[in-house]
Amino acid sequence: MSVPLTSSLYTPTRESLAELLDGEPRYRLDQLWDGLYTQLAAPADITNVPKSLRERLAVELPSALTQLVRTVSDGGDTVKYLWSLADGSRIETVLMLYPDRVTVCVSSQAGCAMGCGFCATGQAGFTRQLSVGEIVEQVVVAARDARTMGRRLANVVYMGMGEPMANLPAVWESVERLHGAIGLSARHITLSTVGLVPGIRSLSEKQLPVNLAVSLHAANDALRDELVPINKRYPLKDLMEACADYLDAKGRRLSFEWALIDGVNDRSRDAAELADLCRRFKLPAHVNLIPLNPTPGYPTVGSSAAHVAKFHQSLVGLGINATVRRNRGTDIDAACGQLAAGQPVVLSSARARSDKG
Ligand code: SAH
Ligand code: SF4
Repeated sequence: MSVPLTSSLYTPTRESLAELLDGEPRYRLDQLWDGLYTQLAAPADITNVPKSLRERLAVELPSALTQLVRTVSDGGDTVKYLWSLADGSRIETVLMLYPDRVTVCVSSQAGCAMGCGFCATGQAGFTRQLSVGEIVEQVVVAARDARTMGRRLANVVYMGMGEPMANLPAVWESVERLHGAIGLSARHITLSTVGLVPGIRSLSEKQLPVNLAVSLHAANDALRDELVPINKRYPLKDLMEACADYLDAKGRRLSFEWALIDGVNDRSRDAAELADLCRRFKLPAHVNLIPLNPTPGYPTVGSSAAHVAKFHQSLVGLGINATVRRNRGTDIDAACGQLAAGQPVVLSSARARSDKG
């Protein structure tokens, strides 16, 4: 059997897995599926499945993620994983433990082609699309890790490396798997997009009502063209209409991400423009404010804490629902926009397959 390098045991649908188990008793499929998705067991640990079969599967569909580095910050509440994929590409995943919830931030592509100048992933450029298995495995491994800390992972945000809407077939299949097989609620799954209008439109036609986060950063086209180059193709009017239609279709939570850049998009007139934009398109959006995190390729700095607070107050004063997001993992480059997977390999046990560790 020849499988693509990007496959993992988390790639096949239940039906394809059944084909793979042809010749085995029928209950094997249930055992394996239950082990993979309900127990979140490492494939080698699904011991009610015979060892010989586990060994065959490990050869045909090995784990897609090889852990290179696992870094911890925020007193253990933020964990960043650097993975090597079978073809040598590198991606990152971030697990965040909050008092009331556990969230994993997954990558949807190795690199990103969207070229936002302030983002480390954008600075590094595009390598390739991730497969369903490579996405789902990030969630499973993080959930397993959370479980060892006595916590249950229930939230997934597609805010790691890459643009989910530029890899929508695999991303959507992964969403369906997380929902259908692991049992995560669509309300706890958020896709973040730089604003690919066709992607948002096709999301409106899907059955599962996931949350949509749009990385806005500017409320006028001239500034947004500069910050987010794809705005030239999908300008604000088209983007806002697509968001409004998504809200109509799904009744789901819509949020705007706004990375505050000193002197660029943190002035009172930027707040006024944003409020005006929301009003014009009747969008009851929730605005997430994040001070810009430093990245190697972008000279401008994030707004000061005082400025962030002032911008927040301006928005609230204008009737806009806004929250200041606390930065997670800035010291280990695990924060928004800092994922570049460029770290040197430091662990000698690097080749140990993540499903065995
Ligand atoms: N490509 C998608 C999802 C991944 S980026 C998107 O752009 O939405 C995740 C979030 O991090 C986005 O909101 C993005 O705008 C933001 N971001 C990128 N670089 C950042 C930086 N240096 N500081 C703070 N946020 C950043
Ligand atoms: Fe890509 Fe999002 Fe970074 Fe822009 S902000 S380069 S879309 S990952």
